[in-house]
Amino acid sequence: MKIPKVGWVRFRWSRAVPDAVKSFRVTRDRAGRWHVAFAAIPESIPAPGAGQMVGVDRGVVVSAALSTGEMLSAAGLRQAEKARLLRLLRKLARARRGSCRRAMVKAAIAKLKAREVDRRKDWAEKVSTDLARRFDVIAVEDLKIGTMTRSAKGATERPGSNVGAKAGLNRGILAAGWGRLVQRLEHKAPGRVVKVSPAYTSQRCSACGIVDAKSRESQADFACRSCGYACNADVNAARNIEHAAGHAVSAREGPRVAGPVHREPRPVLLSA
Ligand SMILES: [Zn+2]
Repeated sequence: MKIPKVGWVRFRWSRAVPDAVKSFRVTRDRAGRWHVAFAAIPESIPAPGAGQMVGVDRGVVVSAALSTGEMLSAAGLRQAEKARLLRLLRKLARARRGSCRRAMVKAAIAKLKAREVDRRKDWAEKVSTDLARRFDVIAVEDLKIGTMTRSAKGATERPGSNVGAKAGLNRGILAAGWGRLVQRLEHKAPGRVVKVSPAYTSQRCSACGIVDAKSRESQADFACRSCGYACNADVNAARNIEHAAGHAVSAREGPRVAGPVHREPRPVLLSA
């Protein structure tokens, strides 16, 4: 390909380029790899049409929890790779500024981080395609409303070794991964992604609707003190997101004949 001011450049095809590409972009990632990306509008995935809705929560323990109860975890770095990364970071802190050793350590860190980003990108592609194929409406939290603090809190609530370093390292990558998942969902399922306010999604009981901060006693478990409903905390949040989106959709379209498909029974209403 001919790049302005550079001239003719060789590159390797990593995949077939669809017809009617209008432009391309040349980028260099932090591991020093050059990429050529051709811009093509992807074909949207048709809705299954079965009236299924799903809520997706950005989890701390797992990468995403679905209101169906599924827990999806993105492949990040393996245990050995994480250990190596922490070792490299300590080495970097000791290396003298401007030294050759420092540059080598930096390059090794960049390579590992690039590998993690690659895996998360791949995960976002697979999950977004899967969700767009299986569900008509996909409900997610609206990221613009301060949710950034949640992951940091999750890490400090269960302190382990190097939590500070790990949290600092992962927060940006996790947030970027979530943003990418939502963006790819919107590309693949245009008009079928509903964004809801994340307010109280982790404290509200998805069975009876009561908001109670004490229901969330541990990071992983939700236990309602009013109706006794117990569930994985991230799945509970995903169900609240689904319910909120259900309200938003029905308010827009008027009363619906069929309600959300997997709504939990409401013990409090049943006994009243
Ligand atoms: Zn409850």
